[in-house]
Formats: sequence, C-alpha cells, structure tokens
Amino acid sequence: MTARIYSWKRIGEAVARVVGTPVAHVVLLVLRLSGRKAGIALMYHAVDEQAGDAGRELVPAVASSVFEGQIRHLKRRYRVVRAGDLPAAIAERRRGERYPVAITFDDDLRCHVAVALPILERVGVLATFFLTGVSLVHPFSFWWERLQRALDQGVSNLAELVGAADVGTCSNAHELVMFVQQLGPESRATVEARLAGVAGIDPPDAGLRAADVRKLVEAQMEVGFHTLRHDNLSLLSDDMLAKAMEDGRGSLEEVVGGPLQIICYPYGYVDERVANAARVARFVSGFTTKRVAVTPGSDPLQIGRWGPSANSPGALAAQLVVALVRRGTYHPHRGDDANTLRTSLHSDASHPGGGETSLRTRIRKP
Ligand SMILES: [Zn+2]
Repeated sequence: MTARIYSWKRIGEAVARVVGTPVAHVVLLVLRLSGRKAGIALMYHAVDEQAGDAGRELVPAVASSVFEGQIRHLKRRYRVVRAGDLPAAIAERRRGERYPVAITFDDDLRCHVAVALPILERVGVLATFFLTGVSLVHPFSFWWERLQRALDQGVSNLAELVGAADVGTCSNAHELVMFVQQLGPESRATVEARLAGVAGIDPPDAGLRAADVRKLVEAQMEVGFHTLRHDNLSLLSDDMLAKAMEDGRGSLEEVVGGPLQIICYPYGYVDERVANAARVARFVSGFTTKRVAVTPGSDPLQIGRWGPSANSPGALAAQLVVALVRRGTYHPHRGDDANTLRTSLHSDASHPGGGETSLRTRIRKP
C-alpha cells in the first residue's frame, strides 16, 4: 500500500514538473477574474547549489536552479511583496489583478546570503528573512545542525544523548528532532550543549554575522524576528514567553536599523496565548506554518505559510493555485500542517545509510 502511495506521489510530481506551470497558468487566469482577496506566504529554509538529500538530511536544501525557476515563476505570475506588506496587498487587490505572494526564509543560514540573495537580486524580487540574531557576533549552529553533523560523523548514542533513550519512540533521526522540539528551554539547552560536545566546534561560517544581515537590508530585503533562542514558544511560561519576544530583539534591530515588526514562531508552534504575547510585544504580523492562503479574515498574528515543493517550479505553480482555490481552508487532520516534512529515513538513525528499513515520518521544520 505504501509503495503504491509512493508511486502515485512520484507520478504526481512528474506530471506537476511537466505540466504544472501551463495548467496552473490557465487556472490562475480564471481565478484572477474573481475579485477575491487572498494571497500566499511561502516559507523556505536552506537553498544550496545542489539539492539536499531528504534520505539523509534533516533539513534538505532546495537546489538553487529549482529555487531560481520558482522565483522567476512568482515574478511572472504574481505580485511579490514583502511579508509585512502582504495583508495590505491582499486588501488592495481588485478583480483581474495578480494575487500577492510573499517569499520568506527562516533561520540565520549562511546560504541565505551566499546563494538565495544573489538569485533574488538577479530576478528582481524582495523577500523577508526571519532571523534570531544568535550568530551576529560569533559562529553558531542551531541544535538540529549539530545533530546533523553528529549523524554525519556516525555518532551512535544520539537517543541517549538527547535524553530520549527511555522514551523508546525515537527510532530514527526525525523522531529525535520531534523529541527535542518538545523539550522545555532548560532541557533543550542541555541537549544543545551535549550536541556541541559530540558534533565538534561550530564551523567558522555558521550563521549570519552583522555584516551579512546588513547585506540583506542594503538589498531592501525585510528582516523579521524568529526569537533569539528558537524555543518552542508554546512550552514557555507567561514570563518566559514575554522575555522571548524581547531577548536579542534590540541587538538585531540595531543591525537592521529599524524596529522588527513581524515575527515567525519557531517550528510553527503557536496558539492564542503565544499570538497574544506577540501582539503585546508590538508585533504587527505573526507567521505560522499552517498551509492556508491569507485572507482579510486571517488573524494577523497567525498568518499561514506554505512550504514550497522542492521538486520543481511546476510543482510550486500547482501548489499555489491549489492554495488559492482552497483559500482559508485548513485541514490539520489531513496531516497537511505546513511545517511537516515528508521524507524517508533509514530506521537506524545512527547509521543513516546503513539500514534496510525505510520509515516515513513527518517533522516540523525549524
Ligand atoms: Zn526556525
């Protein structure tokens, strides 16, 4: 049964690659006849010269060639705006006009400046980068990057190391990621330090220094906040939540040269309490990972985002029209929470290339 689902998925991806763009164009022309007010926010993580390996990597990169094709498609068919301008662009949209789309990136990743920024500039579109500011001064790898390095080095006791050995449910690396995402801040900090111990010193080019952030700003890109510690905000006490909204914000604002008015919630974990804390902390918009189009009825502090298909520009073209047709309809029970990543992993997390059993699981991207 699983094999059959896989093959249908493969067929769907191949069809989308070939006819996704032309078919989506026709559907989009019809949709544009409507005066509906809707738009879409897209969420990228890593973009690199080569596509990442979803079977081995926790957060595989989108290939730069696919990314550029997708960005060119957006520029041709949509009105690309910065995330902070998306709600106003949606409210302004009239019959016949293009639908607004915002391109966003999460986490302070070197590839954002080294690979994605030149492409955005070449194509001539603006985007939004949600940063923690944790690596403004020194190199810093997030815990999942350290976990990746430990996996690559063949470290064998990772479940024990993150404290999941007794839980008995972490049979692969993605389950370890889910386990760590559910840790409170103190346990998470312990895991982060332990991973640093086995993964080795963070590489000198890890993260984004102040000069890198300035490059984004000079290119007119928008910078939003992603919280300094990248904690699962839904697990924090009220006091810690209020603190998370401010810690590191001033330092990043100093580099950016203005206030950070939009936020995206780490791993996409948000509820009414978290959204309200963001509102109290003067954030105007908050971005989640729920796969819904944005409409005037969307809660401005819980705006949905779509993780783009990494497969092809055609797949993204198809995704976008589906999002617009479904406008505002969210089906979490179908397993389509946006921050989930479907991938296959060998069951033996400590030897990613060594097992026979392939497991399918879903994790929330950072
Ligand atoms: Zn993140």
